[in-house]
Amino acid sequence: MNTLEKAKVLSEAGQYDSCGPKSCEIKVENGLGGIYNAKAENKNCRLFKTLMSNDCSFDCKYCINSSYCKKKKASYEPEELASVFNHLHKNLNVWGLFLSSAVSGNPDKVTENMINAVKIIRNKHNFRGYVHFKVLPGTSYELIKQASELSNRMSVNIEAPNKSVLSELSSCKDYKIDILKRQAWISRLKLGSGQTTQMIINKISTDKDVLKMANWEYKKLELRRIYFSGFKPVKGTPLENEKPEPMSRESHLYNVDFLMRDYGYKLKEFDSVLNNGMLPNEDPKLALAKANFEGHLDINEASYEELIRVPGIGPKTAKKIIKTKKITKYEQLHKLGGWISRAKPFIEVDGKTQKRISEFLY
Ligand code: SF4
Repeated sequence: MNTLEKAKVLSEAGQYDSCGPKSCEIKVENGLGGIYNAKAENKNCRLFKTLMSNDCSFDCKYCINSSYCKKKKASYEPEELASVFNHLHKNLNVWGLFLSSAVSGNPDKVTENMINAVKIIRNKHNFRGYVHFKVLPGTSYELIKQASELSNRMSVNIEAPNKSVLSELSSCKDYKIDILKRQAWISRLKLGSGQTTQMIINKISTDKDVLKMANWEYKKLELRRIYFSGFKPVKGTPLENEKPEPMSRESHLYNVDFLMRDYGYKLKEFDSVLNNGMLPNEDPKLALAKANFEGHLDINEASYEELIRVPGIGPKTAKKIIKTKKITKYEQLHKLGGWISRAKPFIEVDGKTQKRISEFLY
């Protein structure tokens, strides 16, 4: 197989790994595939996303690159991958590399090839842009450290919210040793753009399982982002006849993730809307407000923590409201950035005394 054929096979195989929320992943038609618009270091960045190899010795049931699957297999030599990337960088305005791989035999052997490819890109082709390096389960500390010196961001795919869910999907990965231990090592290395991970959302795990693990990863391992991938059956895999997870589930989990990271919501607040461990099928902030607000909130008396729990009011607007001496009209609130139709059922702005909502926050 020549380098161009490998590039097509391996960039197509790389599409299943998340490098950002689905909304950022716009595939660019270039005859080769693998080029995505993603957010890297908070900037929009055209990334080349590829695998080093798609010939996996592992048996993850959802994965088209697993040992079960009969798809065309290919592996780059480090020099080949570096020259494909250099071509895309010079000619197609690609400013980042997202490099992952199947575990073809020994994870350290594959990781050495990945490191060598990035070394050529950095040292021979003098590329100073963004590199996201996917760490394979079971990789040694020494190689993870070497890769960290060449990369801006690293990740290990956690895939599942706990050991028992992972064991339903793969017999080859040890959740604690192959994944969590490697994440802890990466965390200690303090990379510039930190560490992310990807979790598959499927029918075996509840939203509560997923959010509990996500919360733990943010707090204990200081992950920058967790990407949720709703399960989609892939033809040719043992799970090809399973139903896909609805997109809305992925989107509600992203909403909760955002509320916890950016608004400071506590995980336990969501207990009041979970049903058998699952979020309701509506915007989680609205669901929480409907479940917990009693009466209307006096917008002129409310604290920041109360205001950001009103649908249609975000942190920026809440800060502006606190700074404003008195709000007497909805138009005033609209000018401060409030979304009136969403906020109206939960607030009063005409000066009436309202019931406070702080009881359910703590
Ligand atoms: S380790 Fe599992 S998910 Fe990763 S490429 Fe191999 S089979 Fe696929």
